[in-house]
Amino acid sequence: MKFDFRQLTSHFQLYGNFVVAVPYGTGHINDTFQVTFDQGGTLLHYIIQRVNTNVFKAPEELMDNFLRVTRHIGAKIRDERAVNPATRRRTLEVVNSIYGKPYWRDPAGNFFRCYVFVENARSYDILETKAQAYQAAAAFSNFQADLADLPQRLNETIPDFHNTPSRLANLEKAAKEDKLGRLKSVSREFDFIMARGKECGVLIDLQKEGELVERVTHNDTKLNNVLIDDLTGSGCCVIDLDTVMPGLPHYDFGDMVRTGTSPAAEDETDLGKVTMRFPMYEALLRGYLSGAGGFLNATEKSLLPFSGKLITLEIGIRFLTDYLEGDVYFKIRRPDHNLDRCRTQLKLVASIEEQYDAMRKLADELA
Ligand code: ADP
Ligand code: MG
Ligand code: MG
Repeated sequence: MKFDFRQLTSHFQLYGNFVVAVPYGTGHINDTFQVTFDQGGTLLHYIIQRVNTNVFKAPEELMDNFLRVTRHIGAKIRDERAVNPATRRRTLEVVNSIYGKPYWRDPAGNFFRCYVFVENARSYDILETKAQAYQAAAAFSNFQADLADLPQRLNETIPDFHNTPSRLANLEKAAKEDKLGRLKSVSREFDFIMARGKECGVLIDLQKEGELVERVTHNDTKLNNVLIDDLTGSGCCVIDLDTVMPGLPHYDFGDMVRTGTSPAAEDETDLGKVTMRFPMYEALLRGYLSGAGGFLNATEKSLLPFSGKLITLEIGIRFLTDYLEGDVYFKIRRPDHNLDRCRTQLKLVASIEEQYDAMRKLADELA
């Protein structure tokens, strides 16, 4: 899609002369561009994003969360700088439109936002080393720690996102209806999930009992949503704040275990390749506790290994549900794509179960 960036950027509070705009990064959801402005001979960069409003139906609410989160973290970083001017920690900083809003809609309805480009840092797409796992987990846990004292609940932009019992209920409903007659071919997967049905409610029940505390979660804790500082190699800025919401911190840690410990792709058909690599788990756990150790209570800490299993199972449940419903939610590129995806998740759950004692032992030692 082509946009007139000179014209588009004139709707934001940007000073100087527009120079150029180029597509930027490898994000899959929004359209991201880097724009360059010349301010009296100095070149300054900004990010312009067209928000995917097919995915995010209430972008104004989303931007409300975005601003509250970035302002809260921004204030903390300013305090830190007063003490230590060398801190390289950063946060996204929104540039308002000239009409005073944190976004601008063009006449065609496209939803644009702008923020300051974070210099001398970059994101990486594939989690390959233990050091990267540690840095990513540390960055996300610092992010959660920064937001542990955020006043007022954020908008729940996607209700029940990690309500595992309701995800399970959806699967049972899809199985009962069995619209495409696919159930008989997936009885092994279905039985595997149902055998773990009781575990689906563990976190939510403890939350109801007050043992677990709702906090702020990022909900897209992939490596490429952390900017790594070119100079220090540490995670200096958490980005991609579209799904920031109220939730249990376990959702973020669990999803890191799900996406960061297996060397195989989510849709790998050779299940022999899918395994929970313990050293990666250890790096994620150590990195996560480096920032979250201070605000998590003992119950929260003890449930970190379980969260890896639960979130992996939950995504497996969602893939199987979509398969039974006729592939209406997740985009597929081959007929059994959702079933393949479900199988990798369940294989990873099995691998986690095999190593569960060691996973718990380590969590207890580090707690
Ligand atoms: P998506 O939701 O599509 O993944 P992101 O917000 O993650 O979009 O942005 C896509 C990519 O753009 C990121 O992975 C990162 O490389 C880059 N990026 C985004 N914001 C900034 C920024 N403020 N400074 C530098 N790079 C950025
Ligand atoms: Mg992203
Ligand atoms: Mg995103």
